[in-house]
Amino acid sequence: MSGLNVLNSLPKTSLFTKKTGKFIFRFRPYQLQLKHTFTISGNSRTTTAVMLTELEYEGITGYGEASMPPYLGESHASATSFLSKLQLDSFSDPFRMEEILAYVDSIEPNNCAAKASFDIALHDLVGKLLNQPWYKIWGLSAEKTPLTSFTIGIDTEEIIRQKVKEAAIYKILKVKLGRETDKMMISTIRSETNVPICADVNQGWTDRQMALDMIFWLKEKGVIFIEQPMPKEQIDDMAWLTQHSPLPTMADEFLQRFSDVKRAYQVYSGVNIKLMKCTGMREAYKILLAARALDMKIMIGCMTETSCAVSAASQLSPLADWADLDGNLLISNDVFDGMQVIDGKVTLPDRPGIGVIQKNT
Ligand code: MG
Repeated sequence: MSGLNVLNSLPKTSLFTKKTGKFIFRFRPYQLQLKHTFTISGNSRTTTAVMLTELEYEGITGYGEASMPPYLGESHASATSFLSKLQLDSFSDPFRMEEILAYVDSIEPNNCAAKASFDIALHDLVGKLLNQPWYKIWGLSAEKTPLTSFTIGIDTEEIIRQKVKEAAIYKILKVKLGRETDKMMISTIRSETNVPICADVNQGWTDRQMALDMIFWLKEKGVIFIEQPMPKEQIDDMAWLTQHSPLPTMADEFLQRFSDVKRAYQVYSGVNIKLMKCTGMREAYKILLAARALDMKIMIGCMTETSCAVSAASQLSPLADWADLDGNLLISNDVFDGMQVIDGKVTLPDRPGIGVIQKNT
């Protein structure tokens, strides 16, 4: 396997290699360059810090990634510190994923993206050892993948028009709201296209009546659901809003780990699951089944990240109502080839593990 190739093709600085038991674990900080300055309610940025990982066992290598947008509180330094602590000497069998990942989660609290970078590499490794993609291991059907939305950040009218044109192949758009420009953004998009829109407010509305009025207006404009309309702390207001809202409300910032599903029930209509919030594929799968059992809507999302983490999340997407898996399309220096968006639909590669190979750059 060409395990070393991806990491070796990057600048030679700061490659960490650790032989631990029967495993070799490697990780390297990497900086993603965004194609457009990305603005959401709260901040703007042009780069995203990621950590690329590799887990090797008997000559087979699994790939993983941590994406660390600054508002989540992880960084190259924190992920380096966390991943340096991994000791796999007491594990000789990579198939004991429950035990291994419970250990990784127990090393320190938080560090969810760093934990996900190991979880994804372990899943990729185990899928390669089984020579099957994860959607097949989970018994899912590749043709049941949802359409994915393409995200349009808060911007000027002119840039929004340009971005809508660039996004012509997508059959759903996701729009970032939460500022005084909300109605302008939606009206601008509607003057260009009639595709369904999902609105992500990123906690930007604090008055529940105003939020409800906006949701009724947005429904008329063809918006299909509202993600994290209010601050995650406003639980009673949010439960009221969900009860009265004509559109489903989705928990994003509110929901991180498996234990949050119970808190989200009857406060939100659904959950936005992201590998970087919940420590990876193992826990994402558990959240998905729990939310489904509670009859909640399910969305699989991502951060800005390479095709590595996006392809890992895509393996779960046949179980989701909606996907927002465009993170790899927002960057200009992807190092992997994996999941593709074809006719607006998440399309899984027929490759084992998480389905990625090194990109020829
Ligand atoms: Mg969101």
